[in-house]
Amino acid sequence: MPSGAEDALAVVHEHVLVCTACPLHARRTQAVPGTGPAAARIMAVGEGPGETEDRIGKPFVGAAGNVLTRLLASIGLSRDDIYITNVVKCRPPGNRDPEPAEMEACSSFLDAQIEIIRPDVILILGRHALARLLPGAGGITGLHGRRVVRGDRLYVPLYHPAAALYQASLMSTLEEDMLRVRQYLDEAEARRQQPPAAVARPTGAPPEHVEEPPARDQLDLF
Ligand code: URA
Repeated sequence: MPSGAEDALAVVHEHVLVCTACPLHARRTQAVPGTGPAAARIMAVGEGPGETEDRIGKPFVGAAGNVLTRLLASIGLSRDDIYITNVVKCRPPGNRDPEPAEMEACSSFLDAQIEIIRPDVILILGRHALARLLPGAGGITGLHGRRVVRGDRLYVPLYHPAAALYQASLMSTLEEDMLRVRQYLDEAEARRQQPPAAVARPTGAPPEHVEEPPARDQLDLF
């Protein structure tokens, strides 16, 4: 039986499928709302559908999706464990970068998806999702693999999986960062097992903090 959250997510998906709020709708084959269970403890947010996603109607089902699937498997997760979506739900023509107005037009959908799912960890895939979800936090080079707490959400920025297709050296960085994600998920799970008083944020704790960076020096291209 679908939960209230599944129903709420289905309503968001229905709205996405008929959305005409920005010019991207005119050239899409179909909109790509997102896939995965409303009860997912982990969520991934990419940039926007590519050619394969536009044709099939699901996010990350092309070459970058294969990388994402492998990365998830490396920490014992399958795609059924995660809710996957994008900042924009319709394919930008020629896979160009989404424009600020397009991201803005789509923003209420992503906000609603996060609010309904309330995941323990939100994986931010690439610099466009980073700019949308953590404006002002910094670039992907400095933040990848780090835990960023903003408000009551925990984010982990990662290089976009497609980046590893163009720059092979980024694959090992992504793999190392995924091991950190496994640790963050395990810690979140352990916190859930504790009584509520033990997990409350202490009064006066900062609403945002970023953990120490892993030692890396790479360009902010992805
Ligand atoms: N496929 C997606 O769904 N999103 C991306 O950002 C890239 C490929």
